[in-house]
Amino acid sequence: MRPLEQLTRPNVWRLKPYASARDEYNGADATVFLDANENPYNVPHNRYPDPLQREVKRILAPIKRLPVESIFLGNGSDEAIDLLMRAFCCPAVDNVVAIDPTYGMYQVCAEVNDVAYRKVPLEEDFSFRADKLLAAADEHTKLIFLCSPNNPTGNDLSRPEIERLIERFEGLVVLDEAYNDFSEAPSFLSELPRYPNLVVLQTFSKAWGCAAIRLGMAFASPDIIAILNKIKYPYNVNELTQRQAMEMLHRHYEIAQWVGTLKEERSRLGAELAKLPCTVKLFPSDANFFLVRVTDAVRIYRYLVGKGIIVRNRHNVTLCGNCLRITVGTRPENEQLLEALRQYDA
Ligand SMILES: *Cc1c(COP(=O)(O)O)cnc(C)c1O
Repeated sequence: MRPLEQLTRPNVWRLKPYASARDEYNGADATVFLDANENPYNVPHNRYPDPLQREVKRILAPIKRLPVESIFLGNGSDEAIDLLMRAFCCPAVDNVVAIDPTYGMYQVCAEVNDVAYRKVPLEEDFSFRADKLLAAADEHTKLIFLCSPNNPTGNDLSRPEIERLIERFEGLVVLDEAYNDFSEAPSFLSELPRYPNLVVLQTFSKAWGCAAIRLGMAFASPDIIAILNKIKYPYNVNELTQRQAMEMLHRHYEIAQWVGTLKEERSRLGAELAKLPCTVKLFPSDANFFLVRVTDAVRIYRYLVGKGIIVRNRHNVTLCGNCLRITVGTRPENEQLLEALRQYDA
């Protein structure tokens, strides 16, 4: 890996961050807060939240088996993606490399920041080759984006290939594990101490059932996390979100139950989808959704909308011609979908 100072934008490296009132107050015992121009009424919503979400991280750290200093929390994973782009990529100079197809936010964030986005197509079976990504990279490539299990294809990426990429690439590898809870593949979190150029993204939006609260996690070396914390908005995670996250973390056994149920539903739904006359190919899934190639994606999408069932039409996505992406729902929801598709006549 190149030294972090060389990978970071020079202006960001030099930046002295905004110090909020709650930053300067370091948590010593106090009962009278006259430092932040808050209204003393309307408890508990009157106070600014902890800018570093220390209580949330204290509960999260042992669950993830990582030190607090290796954890960044943001307004969804989307904030972490955007901050990585802004911290490391000089607009109009640097570029990023990513597999294609994958999650759309990497490209949007790159383009908003005027960072060239280089797409490397997956193989026909949706696997990736580290060598192809490395060949697309040059001295201006700061980040390579991987997503495993990948969205919208649903498959895990090969662990040895991911390791090969991390070992060979001189910049940062961002591995998005938004769907890892649904996969049998172990997370790369335990590999972080071995790989100073690895950033792992996870989220409260999927297995944790908390898309509404907007809470994303980035895990990396303390040096990388410090850079993200330096450039984030001071109060990027609001108090209501922090409280709800702590409540969910205390209930993490329930999340394991949801995941178990959804994995059972996934195998039932998969078996039934595969039998449908309108199914051309069902791709195997390590996530909580299926990519399925159908006889006519646009027509079936519209047909389902007419029945009040919304799936994602991925027909215009690389390698996904005539494909729909279907989230695993509750048993009755999945049944309703299957019944509608059984009634569909091509
Ligand atoms: C859903 C999803 C996320 C979650 O993003 P949030 O901003 O945390 O809601 C991240 N990455 C991928 C690949 C996703 O599909």
